[in-house]
Amino acid sequence: MLPERLAASADLFEASPQLFAAFDADDRLQWANSSFRAALGLQADEFPTWAEMMRLSRQRGCGPVIDVPDFEAWLASTLGRRGKRSYRAIESRYRDGCWVLMTETCLPNGGMLCVGTDVTNFFVAGRELREARDDAIKAAVTDELTQLANRRSFAAQLEDWLREPGHGFGLVLLDIDHFKRINDQWGHKVGDAVLVAFAGVLRSLIRRDDVAARWGGEEFALLLREHEPQRLLALLERLLAAVREMTPVGRLPSLRCSTSAGVVLALPGDSADELLRRADEALYAAKHAGRDRLQLAPPLG
Ligand code: GH3
Ligand code: MG
Ligand code: MG
Repeated sequence: MLPERLAASADLFEASPQLFAAFDADDRLQWANSSFRAALGLQADEFPTWAEMMRLSRQRGCGPVIDVPDFEAWLASTLGRRGKRSYRAIESRYRDGCWVLMTETCLPNGGMLCVGTDVTNFFVAGRELREARDDAIKAAVTDELTQLANRRSFAAQLEDWLREPGHGFGLVLLDIDHFKRINDQWGHKVGDAVLVAFAGVLRSLIRRDDVAARWGGEEFALLLREHEPQRLLALLERLLAAVREMTPVGRLPSLRCSTSAGVVLALPGDSADELLRRADEALYAAKHAGRDRLQLAPPLG
């Protein structure tokens, strides 16, 4: 609910040429003013998720120019960076030729406020340089095959999370079971398709402010904003079930895979190295116990 005084100012937001929108923790649009809707090509009664909104805008010839060969890969990669920090600003060219500086403000476990400003006639000098810089930053934090965060980016975000006060969170290391057999039996290309599909499953089950990363090879890592062990393990059981159901390559329906996972509950101030060591030990225990299962690391002491 908007506070009454803010609601009374609704006409002001409607009249403003600035773009305003709010998304909830599931990344669904809750509210947007007319300027935002016009820029993105949304009708007044549409409340899509951010990803759906980007697909709609593209179909309708509105919104930011996304000049890439594979739109879904772009979307996946962008989702991997969206809502991870409490604040960021992005400069993009829109299909109507304008440049928009969009700021995103997030609350942990909460919503996101987006405010866009038409900067077409401001800061013109250096725009190409800034675009090139932004592309380089994206490449430096993204795993090219899966479009998840890469190991370096994951490690940096883990350090950030450990500095935040609060209830703690889940750190998970995952390793696909018998992946070498998949490569041996079906070939490296199919192996790559399995890694991409696995990344898609991770992405579909985490929330916007969680982090999914490729740790290396067929190993992945998650940061989950869930400190209650039962809920954390239930989420991961759903993930393991989704991996069992996954059909990574349509023409090979008999190709099935599973994953093992080591889980540790992290608390503010813990050491990242120590958490990773405990998660890795738990993962090893899960493998040893027969694979396709979770193992929660025992609490310290
Ligand atoms: P375990 O259940 O014990 O984890 O067995 P595993 O076969 O998954 O483990 P192992 O570490 O023996 O094999 C991992 C394989 O992953 C070996 C390597 O060739 C393959 N691999 C690593 N990176 C890639 C990649 O980018 N693409 C493909 N196709 N294969 C990869
Ligand atoms: Mg491995
Ligand atoms: Mg493996």
